[in-house]
This record gives sequence, structure tokens and C-alpha cells, in this order.
Amino acid sequence: MLNKKTVDDLANLQGKKVLVRCDFNVPLKDGVIQNYNRIDGAIPTIKKLLDQGAKVILCSHLGKPKGEPVPEMSLAPVAPALSERLGVEVKFVNDPKVTGEETRKVAAELKDGEVLLLQNTRYRVEETKYGKDEKADAYAKELADLCEGGVFVNDAFGTAHRAHCSNVGVSELVDTAAVGYLMQKEIDFLGNAVENPVRPFVAILGGAKVADKLNVISNLLEKCDTLIIGGGMAYTFLKAQGNEIGKSLVDDSKLDYCKEMLAKAEKLGKKLLLPVDSATITDFPNPIDAPVEVELYDSDKMPADREGCDIGPKTAELFADAVKSAKTVVWNGPMGVFENPTLAKGTIAVAKALAETDATTIIGGGDSAAAVNQLGFGDKMSHISTGGGASLEFLEGKELPGVAAATDKYTESN
Ligand code: ATP
Repeated sequence: MLNKKTVDDLANLQGKKVLVRCDFNVPLKDGVIQNYNRIDGAIPTIKKLLDQGAKVILCSHLGKPKGEPVPEMSLAPVAPALSERLGVEVKFVNDPKVTGEETRKVAAELKDGEVLLLQNTRYRVEETKYGKDEKADAYAKELADLCEGGVFVNDAFGTAHRAHCSNVGVSELVDTAAVGYLMQKEIDFLGNAVENPVRPFVAILGGAKVADKLNVISNLLEKCDTLIIGGGMAYTFLKAQGNEIGKSLVDDSKLDYCKEMLAKAEKLGKKLLLPVDSATITDFPNPIDAPVEVELYDSDKMPADREGCDIGPKTAELFADAVKSAKTVVWNGPMGVFENPTLAKGTIAVAKALAETDATTIIGGGDSAAAVNQLGFGDKMSHISTGGGASLEFLEGKELPGVAAATDKYTESN
């Protein structure tokens, strides 16, 4: 259980300034927001604070402006979207310094129940340098001063795996740093799945590289009952088992690691499922969605001139069957080159199996979340994480600095 103060533990907020770190890193096209999920996700925490009469100051990053006030990465379009949802006008100061004079003035004059949105926290180069550069300490202090060092709420799960000024920096300077409802929901879903899953617990990993997910594979093997490995990363495992994998994606430096994981699974009595067949092509499509001619081969019969770019139909059935009997499923990474409609069949089959099961289904963000949404299965999942990198680090069993920095629920003073 999360032993951190949450929004529900905050009291006596009437008239107090509360700084909230949100994740408004929304996709923008010509200044128009393309997807409102992250904005919608932030509303419950903001509403709760407003209901208690707080003066709410919101901050977030958007994209990677790298310390420059890049106009395309301005948070300006987020303010009216928030106003509409909250029914309160959200003030916005287009301040390249984020915490400059005008911003401080508007923050100081906020009345109870009013809301101010700061400009993109990454307009300042110090934002991502917390703990590495003294100037970052000063920026964290400027942010904390906006709420007079009082109450801070961190509701940005997507950046919780990074120690930045606007999460860890501020948390260390205020009297109380609580986690918001969205953050709490992420931690509850991912934390319960990994630490306290209803069994059988099936974990599915895919995507391009084994190297990116070394610690996730090892940690999940200990926690789950069945580990399914598909996508490009499966071929290093198949090669480690002695199979010909043709021109498929491989990381030869990780062959020993894969052998170790196969042995670990056996020793722990866990099922580790790998593709039994693949959809193969001769040349990788360019552009990625160009038409391709596919031939199917069993994993022990792959010709040397073919490249495995999706799981085959026998594998899709095998994986779907494992999902059917599960009570908890966590999925991270596509089963093939899903950007190409001919090579998306395996990813669609797995997404469909998750959509049809009664199990708790959790999608670990990034490409898998995009794939599930794009295929129209988004609302069939129990939880789609808003943080790709953060959810992966969580599945690795790492402590997230943004969460660790929040105030403990039970301290000597309360
Ligand atoms: P997530 O974002 O869900 O965490 P991920 O982004 O970490 O997943 P990546 O390791 O980046 O996953 O892999 C995603 C990419 O892997 C996709 O672009 C997909 O085309 C590619 N991919 C999947 N299977 C194969 C394959 N068999 N051969 C080559 N590329 C593959």
C-alpha cells in the first residue's frame, strides 16, 4: 500500500495556495490539442482542491523545449481546455521565465477558488537538472515560493521516474507534498498487479529490444505465473535456444542473458512462452506501412533470408489462450511491427484477447497504449498507464523518485 500523503489527507486548504504538478504533455498539432486524456485525468485532483477553497497553481512540461521558450510547446492551449472542464476561468501567463515577475504577481493576487496555469516548466533549462546543478535548486525554490512553501501535489505519473525541479525539487522544499488522484490510481493498479496480483498473473512483453527491458524481464519472472515474450525481442531468446532466426532483430550481446532467464523461469517453475511461429518478410518496409509479402514459418524452420516481423497465427492462439485463463494481465510492448497493417495481426490478436477477458488488464503505456487505443480497444482495458517510462521502471521494481519524494503518510508529527 502507498504510504504517502494523498489529496484526501490534505485539510484546512481554505485560502491556501496549492501548487500542483500535472502531466499536460498533450499531443498538439498547429496549436490544437489532439487528445484530452491527460487533461481529463487531472480534473479530479484540481476539483477536490477547489472544492476546499484552495487557490490552485498548476504546472507541467510539454515536449522537450530544452530550456528555450519554443512557441509550439507553449501550454497556452491547455488553459481554455481546463477552464471548460472546471467551469472556472483558468488564468495563464505566457512567461518565458515560468516564475517571472508577472507570474508571481498573478499568483500572489489569486483569490480562493481561482486557478493559474504556469508556462511550460521546461522553458527553463534548470528543470531537468535537479541534483546536478545548483541553479536548479534556485528554480525549485522559485516554484515552491509560488505556494509559499506550503502544500504541493504531484499528479504527474509520466515524469515520476525522473527527479526534476517541478516534482522532487519542490517536494523537498514544501511543508507537505502529497500525491494526486491520478498518480494514486497508477500506483494502485501497477503496484497491486506486481506486488499483490490476483492469480494467475500473466505478463506480456514485446517491442524491439531485449536490452531496454532486461530488468523488467527478470523482475516480472519472479512475480508472474506466465511470462509471454513476443515482438522483436523474442528473436534473441529464440536464437539463445538454438533456433535459426534469419534476418530478425537480434542482440547477440544478450544471448547469455536470455539463456539465464530461460533457466531462471525453469528453476522458479514459471511458464515462459515464446513465439512458435512468425510472420516473416524479406526486406523491412520503407515507409513502415508500405505493402509487404508475408510468409509464415514455425520457429524451428525459419529460412536464413527471412525476417520475423510479427508473431504467427499459432502463437497468437497460444498467447490468447494464456490470457484467457489469467486473472491479472500486464502488457508492455507490441507483438510485431504494428505500424504496418499486415504486420499488426499479432498485436491485434493479443489486444482482442485482453479486451475479451474478465481479468484485470493493465497496459504499460507508450507504444502498447497507442496500439490499443488505435485499434479501438482502449475502453475495454482496466487501466492504461499514462506513463510509458515510469510504468516500465515500476515493473522493474524500482522506486520512482517523484513518488518517493512525497511526504510519508504517518510521520512523527501526525
Ligand atoms: P512501450 O512504449 O509500450 O513501452 P516500447 O515503445 O518500449 O513499448 P519498443 O521497444 O520501442 O517498445 O518497440 C516498439 C517498436 O518495436 C515498434 O515500433 C515496432 O515496430 C517494433 N517491433 C516490434 N516487433 C518487431 C519485430 N519483430 N521486428 C522489428 N521491429 C519490431
